[in-house]
Amino acid sequence: MADPGWMIERLDTALTREARADAPQHSDESHRFLILLFHRMRAADAPVAPGSYYCDGGITTSDFARVVEFFKARRYEFFTPRGLKSALSRHHRCVMLTFDDGYADNLQALPILEAHQVPAVFFISPGPVVANEIFWWDAVFREESCRGTAVKKIHSDIARLAALDVPCIRDIVLRRYGVRALEPTTEFDRPLSVAELRDCAASPWIEIGNHSYDHSLLVGKSLESARRQLLLAQSTLEEITGLRPISVSYPYGIFTDETIELAKSCGFEIGLTSDKCWNSFPSALSAHNLLSLGRWPLSSRREIHRQLHVLERPFTASRMYYVCRTMLHSVRRSAHHWRLAAFFQRGA
Ligand SMILES: [Zn+2]
Repeated sequence: MADPGWMIERLDTALTREARADAPQHSDESHRFLILLFHRMRAADAPVAPGSYYCDGGITTSDFARVVEFFKARRYEFFTPRGLKSALSRHHRCVMLTFDDGYADNLQALPILEAHQVPAVFFISPGPVVANEIFWWDAVFREESCRGTAVKKIHSDIARLAALDVPCIRDIVLRRYGVRALEPTTEFDRPLSVAELRDCAASPWIEIGNHSYDHSLLVGKSLESARRQLLLAQSTLEEITGLRPISVSYPYGIFTDETIELAKSCGFEIGLTSDKCWNSFPSALSAHNLLSLGRWPLSSRREIHRQLHVLERPFTASRMYYVCRTMLHSVRRSAHHWRLAAFFQRGA
């Protein structure tokens, strides 16, 4: 897990793609395109309750509308995985809006997408949808916040647990916090319901993608187990929505070359990571690159226009900082996995 060669390779890939996307425009690299990543969404005036909105803090509906308006004003083409190739062949500036996990609060994006007539992609882990259970990390965050545990310690605990299989994590969570710990407590801490997911998929403005069945890490375990995660999500999503996704967002943004090969063998055409970079066209259209596209997260924790202008600027120190911070985060997470694997191998 903590293979330094892999880490260096990923850092090198991220920086190379970043530099390439910002290089002066050449005939063979005439386009670059951007994929944005969101998780939670809340109304601008909704208070953030203690212990909720773990992850990136979410984006407010008004900031999300500003993001859409920003790119529309600059005449960007909005696209989804199914329209990627035709959008890139027709437009010099393209952007894709993506939401990971499948939170019910993402439904608030739909009126904005409809009003502006732009599409987005919802990457869903159908396990929690079918079980109507909140995501385990939200239960840990909520319960530990209520106990007064320091946020840094909660994040560290969540990163450590994430290396385990989700059924095992569920057992730990239920043992620690009680048998009702994974039940939704508010309207917006829950995943989409099956009916809501079906309705979303029927909207012309939403495309559904695969985010593994129960949000299990796809690396650090057997290839067969990772394959089961992807294929079970595929069959469940197809059963609910009537459509088989062609894209996958790797849980936690973590992937290796084996993950890309696995995604390819499972029939995916597009794979999304959390590497913070622009993507170049046409180099992105190689099968390998299409299965490891970079994305930029945006949240309302910082002023939204400032984040958007940083994205628009050429290669800057702040973008370099984001890329390096992502890699450091991956190194730290892998170190956790390695320590955990060593712990279990000792039979402790
Ligand atoms: Zn996720």
